[in-house]
Amino acid sequence: MNRESAAPAGAGAFDATADIVVVGGGGGGLPAALFSRWNGDEVILLEKAEQLGGTARKAAFWYWVPNNVRMREAGIEDPEEDFLRYAARLSRPQQYDPSSPTLGLSEWEFAQIRAIYESASPAAELLAERDALPYRWCEAVPDYWAELPEDRAPIGRVFVPEGARESMSDGGLVGVATMSAAAERDGVDIRLRHRVQRLVIVDGAVVGVEATGPQGTVRVGARKAVIFASGGFTHDPELRANFLSAPAYGGCAAITNEGDFVRIGSAAGAQLRNMNQAWMCPVPLESAVSRDPSLSGMFSVAGDSMLFVDKTGRRVVNEKLPYNELAQMFFQWDPLRGEYPYLVLVQVWDQRAQENSASDEYGRLIVGSTGASDAHVLRGETLEELEDAVRERAAKYATVTGGLALADDWADNLRASIARFNEMAETGVDRDFGRGERAVQQLFNGDVREEPGRTNPTMWPLSASGPYYAALVTGGTLDTKGGPKATPDGQVVDDMDRPIPGLYGVGNCVASPSARAYWAGGATLGPIIAFAYRAANAATKEQQRTVSSSVLSSSGHDREELAWR
Ligand SMILES: Cc1cc2nc3c(=O)[nH]c(=O)nc-3n(C[C@H](O)[C@H](O)[C@H](O)COP(=O)(O)OP(=O)(O)OC[C@H]3O[C@@H](n4cnc5c(N)ncnc54)[C@H](O)[C@@H]3O)c2cc1C
Repeated sequence: MNRESAAPAGAGAFDATADIVVVGGGGGGLPAALFSRWNGDEVILLEKAEQLGGTARKAAFWYWVPNNVRMREAGIEDPEEDFLRYAARLSRPQQYDPSSPTLGLSEWEFAQIRAIYESASPAAELLAERDALPYRWCEAVPDYWAELPEDRAPIGRVFVPEGARESMSDGGLVGVATMSAAAERDGVDIRLRHRVQRLVIVDGAVVGVEATGPQGTVRVGARKAVIFASGGFTHDPELRANFLSAPAYGGCAAITNEGDFVRIGSAAGAQLRNMNQAWMCPVPLESAVSRDPSLSGMFSVAGDSMLFVDKTGRRVVNEKLPYNELAQMFFQWDPLRGEYPYLVLVQVWDQRAQENSASDEYGRLIVGSTGASDAHVLRGETLEELEDAVRERAAKYATVTGGLALADDWADNLRASIARFNEMAETGVDRDFGRGERAVQQLFNGDVREEPGRTNPTMWPLSASGPYYAALVTGGTLDTKGGPKATPDGQVVDDMDRPIPGLYGVGNCVASPSARAYWAGGATLGPIIAFAYRAANAATKEQQRTVSSSVLSSSGHDREELAWR
């Protein structure tokens, strides 16, 4: 289904109508449809792909729920003011001001993070009560910045779908399955293979959408509201190149997430915000370049006798940083040489890591002999042989990496990097990059063998003899964070911060108040569920637009100035 013009359509007959039309059936769309249905609204959900789930289907589906019921039952305090400080401190560190009424954030962003605190827990509880998303409390999982003084509740905010396996990597499959089943059970009218192309606007109000479906163009009317939940723009190279500040190749969002709401919302006069930001993670270069739909982010870089080096063979980063932070490394600019020197890094590991840390869990580059593809893995009996293999593979990608080539002395420098790494692994202290220093890095350690008595479980010396292994890694997105600006109740606003009547958005298709932050595991889906709840609750109060001979006319909605502007 190709993209068509996003210019809005006008009055005319509809093929189907409902109170609420939801666009996209992933992490935000499924809960938005469920909450709307439970409010008594008729709901049509239009999904572009052949199946429901979007990126959420691929996710581990941790969801971050501040001040949740389980924390309160266990006596873990998570006061609002501390939560807001933690969130603000990380979202806009350069503006953070604990003495300011908005902590240095804009009123809009401050209102958005308050909305997360207020609504994530009731939203999660309602989904669980209605058997749409029963959960398991991950009481020991720390926030990604648990040591910051602003984080007064460093553990306890993470939930995962109840039926997820112990490693939790299939949480998305489980969560999407239970929410989809609830949507069918409760009468959400789900239409797959429908790509929404534009809004239908009558008298300044959004009264429906036009979609391309298997039988051609379909017009779907919305008596109360259209709620977009169509994901970000990871898979539109033009939007990526023009809005993201990082030269990412793409990422692991659903392949159908092509920024449709950026264009559709803009055509209706919506403001765009936070277009330069994304949820980021390292990704294997080859899969990112080939736009492999099964691509997954590297959420835990497995292996203790393992390190990352650059094209000169030098170690340049703490390999166990949380994925969003590790990914920033790839996009550093060298103002002296005029290049991105770390755009592609080389993960190097030895036979010990291969044997102990191989896994078919998603996002692992160290894979076993069965299951996951090992096409990305390069091998050499010596460091010199490994250099040849890496050099040859890098040459294949030279046209898309600005001519990436290894330095002539790569193997020598790698040998020196390994020697230094090994010396630090012996003592357990990474004096260069602090590997293993923070609690969160243990979360991203992958599977490593227990070694009695060692002080740093993230490091172990690499062997003095081969075989050695390598793979090419770059930075990518889970999905992007920018899009039309919406109120804390999901109402999309125009250039004067006035809600566009009848138009709502939740999830990665709208601007996220997280800005540069990745607060914790589940920091995308927890807030998304909160905003889906709030949008459904606001949309249900919209005055019904009257339907006459299958044409809707708008109710003459007043445009109001908003307090948070
Ligand atoms: C491997 C992986 C692991 C992850 N793990 C976690 C995790 O543990 N915790 C967490 O919080 N986040 C996680 N995420 C991120 C999380 O999955 C997303 O942030 C979340 O799914 C976003 O929800 P969404 O509704 O905005 O978008 P999506 O879930 O991507 O849904 C968007 C849907 O809209 C559809 N669509 C797009 N355009 C149109 C159109 N024009 N018309 C109709 N439909 C359209 C798409 O096909 C898609 O189904 C992970 C992501 C990945 C890739």
